[in-house]
Amino acid sequence: MERRYYDGHDVPPTGLVLACSANFLIIWSCALLSGSRLLFALALFMSLVLAGRLITSLLYTTSNSSTSRERLSPFVMVPEAVLSACIGLFGAFALVLQIDGELQTLALVYALTYATAMTVRCADQPICARIHMGLVAVPTVAASLYVGSPASLVLALVVPGLAMTMDTLTQTIYGHLCSIARISQERKAVSEQYHFLALHDGLTGLLNRDGFHISIEDMLTLRGPGQRIALLWFDLHHLRDINESQGYAAGDRLLCEMARRMRACTPDDAVLARFGSDEFLLAVPVASRRHAERLVNKVSSHLNRPLRLDYAMVEAGTAIGAAILGEDSATISHLMQSANIALMQAKEQNSRTCFYAPEMGQQRAERKEMERDLRAALAREELEVHFQPLIDLDSGKICSFEALVRWTHPQKGEISPEVFIPLAEETGQIITLGNWVTAQAARAAATWPDHIMLAVNLSPTQMRAPGAALGILHALRVAGLPPRRLVIEVTESVFLEDCVHARHFMDDLTRAQVHFALDDFGTGYSSLSYLHRYHFDKIKIDRSFVCGPQVGPHSDAIIRAVAGMGRKLGMEIVAEGIETAEQAHSLRSAGCTLGQGFYFSRAVTAPEAQKLLDQEEGKQGKLLLAQ
Ligand code: C2E
Ligand code: MG
Ligand code: MG
Repeated sequence: MERRYYDGHDVPPTGLVLACSANFLIIWSCALLSGSRLLFALALFMSLVLAGRLITSLLYTTSNSSTSRERLSPFVMVPEAVLSACIGLFGAFALVLQIDGELQTLALVYALTYATAMTVRCADQPICARIHMGLVAVPTVAASLYVGSPASLVLALVVPGLAMTMDTLTQTIYGHLCSIARISQERKAVSEQYHFLALHDGLTGLLNRDGFHISIEDMLTLRGPGQRIALLWFDLHHLRDINESQGYAAGDRLLCEMARRMRACTPDDAVLARFGSDEFLLAVPVASRRHAERLVNKVSSHLNRPLRLDYAMVEAGTAIGAAILGEDSATISHLMQSANIALMQAKEQNSRTCFYAPEMGQQRAERKEMERDLRAALAREELEVHFQPLIDLDSGKICSFEALVRWTHPQKGEISPEVFIPLAEETGQIITLGNWVTAQAARAAATWPDHIMLAVNLSPTQMRAPGAALGILHALRVAGLPPRRLVIEVTESVFLEDCVHARHFMDDLTRAQVHFALDDFGTGYSSLSYLHRYHFDKIKIDRSFVCGPQVGPHSDAIIRAVAGMGRKLGMEIVAEGIETAEQAHSLRSAGCTLGQGFYFSRAVTAPEAQKLLDQEEGKQGKLLLAQ
């Protein structure tokens, strides 16, 4: 049994001094008053042993380290055993020498009381208790038998009985002490387990948020001020997809494998934590920025290796944002903010790693402000839908209008959709915004002649929203616009991000006679496989092929090739960004069937779009090409 639950040697100093004084008093009273030389010599020896024992016991009691107690323990036990033997002999001699009756009683009571006290005190060590009792009882019984008087024979009988009773008592106390020790140990193990669970992630075994904060504070305290600590914030790209496609067990395995890889490629003194469902944090002391960069690259290449999940190879992919304490930030909370900003930057730029730079903070603050303003603008309906006509390049007539959203900020003026649409996509506001645009545009288009089509732009997030197709059909029904008059413009990014949802969305709406146009063709991968796999009625060639510095024989050849393909596939080819009459004519001769651009008209308000239609009617068509 462990000493810390009960330690028989740990007697309070006052108790020790009192016990020793009592010992001195008794042995010297007996020795001096009896006049026995033997008892006198024994008392002298016992006094020395008592003094030694008092010193070692006091040293033991006052020492608070368990190792020094361990070392002192034999120096307490040996004099105690010697003293027990001496006390036993003292009582035995008192009997054998037939000293004065009262003194004899005193010596015997002293010996038996001492033995009893020692057995109780040694309850944590039953063997020691037996030794002490034996050292006193054996000489006492032997002397009683030697004397042979009736009273001493009774004593010879009683002492073993006392010894056995005390032994039983000691065993009982020892048993209780053992169960107390066991319960305490079990409680300790449970509380240690709770403590571990409170600070660790149950799945990966890495630290959790609380554990991370505690460990990083410890790291700082240990290393002192002025330390460079790199903080890496990881985001796992495809956890949600894997959870959805292969089940949560596969997602869990992915997380555990990522945690294992992180542990394997980071130094032992690193603090590693799972911070959110698919986010991890790593804090590690570094010597310099270059050191941190090397570490980030190493960890990134390690984590981005494909892994096997259920017999399939998976590219989990991670983005890492990094910042350095002592360079980018002065406090832990600021460091975490900086690493998080760097992570967001990495995700936005589709890069694997990104180190924090001070201007990122400013940009984020501006974005946050714009996000707030856009939310307010949406709530207050401060946005407006404008319409840009698409012209049939043969007849010169308007055949459709593209709805383009406009935002005039009360302080900052007009903000380009190229700025706020990506922001709305990231924040999810695009769903509200897109629904609003579709509803407004459909309401305006319902008043146009039946052959005029309406084109609206749809972002990937809108397509993924549950019930997106039904929502659009509902908006058309409310506005009274037949679905066949709607063209939805999508860009390739829709298919890059999520083919399954895109396929369902397009199938549902194609069945309802809604048309689709592939927008900004030529800017992304321009993969022909999308044209093969999905039904598009139009391809809109990006304006960078029509106007601007890159326009030339190359772009002309590409336009001709795309137009030729469109003709064969029965698709309309729209040239975007026509700014001059020459461009309009050459695009027409290149095979483009429709044109859109400032040459014909900028995006205008709904009443102005109506006016354009009326004007066209008045001039019996052709007006716009002739301008
Ligand atoms: P987009 O769908 O390619 O729209 C055509 C863009 O080209 C419009 O820019 C239009 O003003 C511009 N443009 C038209 N003709 C010319 C020209 O002759 N020269 C030049 N330089 N530009 C011309 P805008 O309105 O700034 O919109 C930019 C993009 O924002 C759009 O590109 C579209 O992707 C997105 N967008 C606009 N409104 C919406 C919307 O309601 N929903 C969604 N999801 N996206 C929208
Ligand atoms: Mg468009
Ligand atoms: Mg476009």
